[in-house]
Amino acid sequence: MSEATASKDNGTEPMIEIQQLNKWYGDFHVLRDIDLTVKRGERIVICGPSGSGKSTLIRCINHLEAHQQGDILVGGVHMTQDIKRIEQIRRQVGMVFQHFNLFPHLTVLENCCLAQVWVQRQPRREAEKSAMKYLERVQIADQAKKYPGQLSGGQQQRVAIARALCMRPEVMLFDEPTSALDPEMIKEVLDVMVELAHEGMTMLCVTHEMGFAKTVADRVIFMDQGQIIEQAPPETFFNNPQSERTQLFLSQIL
Ligand code: ADP
Ligand code: MG
Repeated sequence: MSEATASKDNGTEPMIEIQQLNKWYGDFHVLRDIDLTVKRGERIVICGPSGSGKSTLIRCINHLEAHQQGDILVGGVHMTQDIKRIEQIRRQVGMVFQHFNLFPHLTVLENCCLAQVWVQRQPRREAEKSAMKYLERVQIADQAKKYPGQLSGGQQQRVAIARALCMRPEVMLFDEPTSALDPEMIKEVLDVMVELAHEGMTMLCVTHEMGFAKTVADRVIFMDQGQIIEQAPPETFFNNPQSERTQLFLSQIL
């Protein structure tokens, strides 16, 4: 993963720029005037009550959801409806979901090779080599021949992270990656995420793991009802939250 670190830094251009983003689901105004700039190498934790728009926000960044107003730029590429632009952006962005989203009928190794071969047009042998490298990084190479259903949740999530890393993303989006896991498996996934953070990966993590936020986040963002209510470095955020809504939320989860 070391090649995914600061060496890719090619200037001061922000990794992600979101300006006045607004989105509706039908009549429902789900994201309201979101402004967010993420620098290369920055680690952001997004928290907030269920239904506040956290998933929708990060899904807009790789166009898993379309927005109606505002601008999103990823690595300087302006998101439009143009499929070429969308693909250009998606190549830079890795995503890890709450429910892993591995292909159940493919082995761990095949899960990690599929997009390398069919999207990146890499020779299968090369794809397998880098898949094994990333599976080793998340300490699961010994399970490469198994199917997802034969693994624990924590193992599946580590495979999902390896699969995303195989695409050499510039930024990783995590949507509650530990929420579906039994408590004893949360740490093994967080450990991998902490390691990625220390290697300089740009990360946006929706999570309620406040220990993780305190350890690695440069900034914690609190969302409620489709808006960014408050953002601050973890120490300020946890010790001195400004908004009443943030205080209430923290009192409920800490
Ligand atoms: P969070 O991740 O913070 O829990 P979401 O972004 O998933 O919030 O959802 C924000 C709001 O948008 C919720 O009220 C949810 O019910 C609604 N929502 C999410 N996805 C859709 C959809 N595809 N169609 C309509 N409403 C949706
Ligand atoms: Mg969500």
